[in-house]
Amino acid sequence: MSLDIRANQSLKPYNTFGIDVRAAFFVSVHSDGELEQALAWAAARNLRVLVIGGGSNLLLTTDLSELLVVRMDNRGVRVLEENGDQVLLEAEAGEPWHPFVLQTLELGLAGLENLSLIPGTVGAAPMQNIGAYGVEIKDVFAGLTALDRDTLQVRDFSVADCAFGYRDSVFKRQPGRWVILRVRFKLSRSAPVHLDYGPVRQRLAEQGIQHPTPKDVSAAICSIRREKLPDPAELGNAGSFFKNPVVTAPVLDAIRREHPDAVAYPQADGLFKLAAGWLIERAGWKGYRDGDAGVHRLQSLVLVNYGGASGQELYALAQRIQDDIQSRFGVTLEMEPNLY
Ligand code: FAD
Ligand code: NAP
Repeated sequence: MSLDIRANQSLKPYNTFGIDVRAAFFVSVHSDGELEQALAWAAARNLRVLVIGGGSNLLLTTDLSELLVVRMDNRGVRVLEENGDQVLLEAEAGEPWHPFVLQTLELGLAGLENLSLIPGTVGAAPMQNIGAYGVEIKDVFAGLTALDRDTLQVRDFSVADCAFGYRDSVFKRQPGRWVILRVRFKLSRSAPVHLDYGPVRQRLAEQGIQHPTPKDVSAAICSIRREKLPDPAELGNAGSFFKNPVVTAPVLDAIRREHPDAVAYPQADGLFKLAAGWLIERAGWKGYRDGDAGVHRLQSLVLVNYGGASGQELYALAQRIQDDIQSRFGVTLEMEPNLY
């Protein structure tokens, strides 16, 4: 089948910040074969390639000239193996993430419920080891298949090969090298639910649910997220703009001498995860707006585009926040979205 390659395409519909930059060329691919054709088409014209999914973790700061944007749109979910309560499931990279989570819950499978309502695609999920409410994709990850753009060889990755970290993986550290084609998950018909995060326990208690099922947890998380987070369809954003900084005990002590209420969580390695949202809010940025770039009024970790902000304006705002947090607290905030 011939590819529908479009020239001079606005990327506004393809990134959740709603930033209006243009790609020299754009194509959606629906199979491994179409992906290979697209890569060959770009190589023949000496064009660079950017692979995207739902565009919910991108900050586009400039027109992408001399470049082909390839949007992964391959679909399919299949059960590979069932062993007692354990089920091995595989999903194609272009599957939209949240509908996939709901599909697993309908199949009676537990494991992905805490990752409900995260935008984007299955293929991008391992990129930053998506996480929410105490669960990361690595906790239920069984492997993935990716194309090496350097060699055009297809390779399987185990959990160890992916070197998952906090919002991090080997794929994020080698930008552009791997195209994730499909991902495998080990889910269970009987796994216990994870209720470590206070707001989830509280929401279930308010609903009078004492023994929550994975579907109950998913519904509670969806309701919390709908209240707290802006819907990109209504207000452009890419979720949390900064990672939570991980600091040593002396750094935390220094902050707590001035701010005894600073929010931090002890980590297994003896370090402390500071809530970046708390730092930004305490520094007075919550609800800040400069033109069409701003900080969300309810969630200070989320930068928003009120309509006409450019990627550069959002980036400049992010840098101002970084500088301010550095000078007030001596802490470096790292940006989470992928910058182009
Ligand atoms: P894109 O934004 O399209 O791409 C992200 C990166 O992955 C880019 O570098 C791209 O080149 C690369 N990429 C995409 N697909 C592939 C592929 N198949 N192969 C190789 N590289 C690829 N994230 C969390 O971790 N937890 C959350 O709770 C969370 N909540 C969010 C809430 C909101 C409202 C929003 C807008 C975002 C949130 N995010 C969250 C961030 C984002 O949704 C996730 O990181 C998501 O996995 C990105 O998926 P995507 O398909 O949109 O990726
Ligand atoms: P929250 O519940 O208000 O908590 C604030 C911060 O404290 C979070 O960043 C979270 O860290 C941390 N935290 C809270 N309870 C914790 C616990 N019991 N143990 C360890 N750490 C704890 O956070 P929120 O902003 O509303 O987000 C809720 C969840 O959704 C979080 O897990 C968050 O990461 C995720 N989320 C992610 C994005 C994104 O784009 N990456 C966007 C929205 C929401 P962690 O962030 O490390 O979990």
